[in-house]
Amino acid sequence: MHTFYYPGHIQHDPAQMHRSDTLFQNRFYGEVPQRGQLIFNALQAAKLGPITSAGDFSIDTIGEIHEYGLLNLLQNAHERMANEAESQLALPNTFSKFALRHKPQSVWGQLGCYAFDTASPIFEHTWETAYWAVQTAVSAAALVHAQGSKVAYALCRPPGHHAGPNFYGGGCYLNNTAVAAQWLVQQGQRVAILDLDYHHGNGTQMIFYGRSDALYCSIHADPLHEYPYYWGYADEYGEGSGKGYNYNFPLPRSSTEIVYLAALEEALNRIRFYVPDILIVSLGVDIIQGDPIGGFQIEAGILRQIGKAIAALRLPSVVVQEGGFNLENLGQLVVTFFNGLLGK
Ligand SMILES: [Zn+2]
Repeated sequence: MHTFYYPGHIQHDPAQMHRSDTLFQNRFYGEVPQRGQLIFNALQAAKLGPITSAGDFSIDTIGEIHEYGLLNLLQNAHERMANEAESQLALPNTFSKFALRHKPQSVWGQLGCYAFDTASPIFEHTWETAYWAVQTAVSAAALVHAQGSKVAYALCRPPGHHAGPNFYGGGCYLNNTAVAAQWLVQQGQRVAILDLDYHHGNGTQMIFYGRSDALYCSIHADPLHEYPYYWGYADEYGEGSGKGYNYNFPLPRSSTEIVYLAALEEALNRIRFYVPDILIVSLGVDIIQGDPIGGFQIEAGILRQIGKAIAALRLPSVVVQEGGFNLENLGQLVVTFFNGLLGK
């Protein structure tokens, strides 16, 4: 299996929030640079295949999914915040809840237009890191497409599935999975996305909600009680020509593997019925018990079964890293999933 990885991701460290603002000192923030390094180390030790850097598919590839206003803000918010507000912390202090007749020019106003939560500060290297996370995902997609490789892995950090066409949040700035899926669609591929993260991938859902050329299936904690709260319900099936191409499987917070594997089988049947050319797996290992922001009661070894069940689809697959925040076993969890997927 070929893995793509951008080591420079360590420059984006949202835990800086704790150091730069007393308001955040006691807040847990799990999307830290060690995540990428721990997974990288575990993959290397497990000798699952080569790990290389990504190719550059340019900003235009990202512009196929995200508004340029968002891309501009991600690029310059840090500097503008320092100049306009003398702050190191580019986080919104308002949120635009209503339809806008005018886009504000102030950096504060623009942050409130594009951010949907306060979990995603923009620092000096955030843009560069998010940019290369997307290129990492597209590189994996391109390899699977060009060489008919069975599986490629995009070790992305920051993750992406909470980022939508014109919004960012949940530690996600650009939607790595969606940009890779769009790139594949443009190559004439029929794409199915299976989102396994503990949290619903509201960004990915919204991007493809009105489209039939990409199927989105997600198994996650019930948004009645868990982030992202406003999306991810079972009756969200898509709209317009996208109706019937979006399936959510929300599960109660303390679900065990029996419940989870039953939902997985249903989701895999949706994917079989769709007959895609390529599968993209949004892999979040925060479904395993012990995750500091997860809640399912699923043992680590189940990831191997999940991988095996996906392998039984016999589809060329691109795996894109999303969440997973237990630094004690994060690397091993990802390896366990691949052991199942690759039949090891
Ligand atoms: Zn998650």
